[in-house]
Parts: sequence; structure tokens; C-alpha cells
Amino acid sequence: MKATVDPDACISCELCVEICPEVFEMDDESGKAVAKVNPVPADAEESAQDSADQCPTEAIAIE
Ligand code: SF4
Repeated sequence: MKATVDPDACISCELCVEICPEVFEMDDESGKAVAKVNPVPADAEESAQDSADQCPTEAIAIE
């Protein structure tokens, strides 16, 4: 599983980081969320998917 964040769609609400800090973090420069590990570790797949499902702007793509 691979997670990517569309920086143009991200509104920096930090929800994905709260749900799945194993994968998502806020980028200091852009202020947007980024996926810091790819592929997503097996034990974080469920929470990464939850982040994608709950992102208010559907900025997270899971492949
Ligand atoms: S949940 Fe979506 S909008 Fe919020 S910080 Fe994460 S990627 Fe950005």
C-alpha cells in the first residue's frame, strides 16, 4: 500500500496525523500533510485507510 497527499487539496487540518501518525506528518515548509513512509507499514494500513476516508477534502490517495 502506498499513500500520497495532494498538497493542493490538503487544508492542513492535521486529522490524518492524529489518526495515523505512523504514516502522516505535517511538512514544516509547506504546512501540508505528507506521507513520511512508503510503502505503508502493514500494521498501519488500516489507520492510513481511515485517514484517507476521513480527510475532509479527500486529499489522500491510497494505492
Ligand atoms: S486530513 Fe486531509 S486535509 Fe487534513 S491534514 Fe490530512 S491530508 Fe490535509
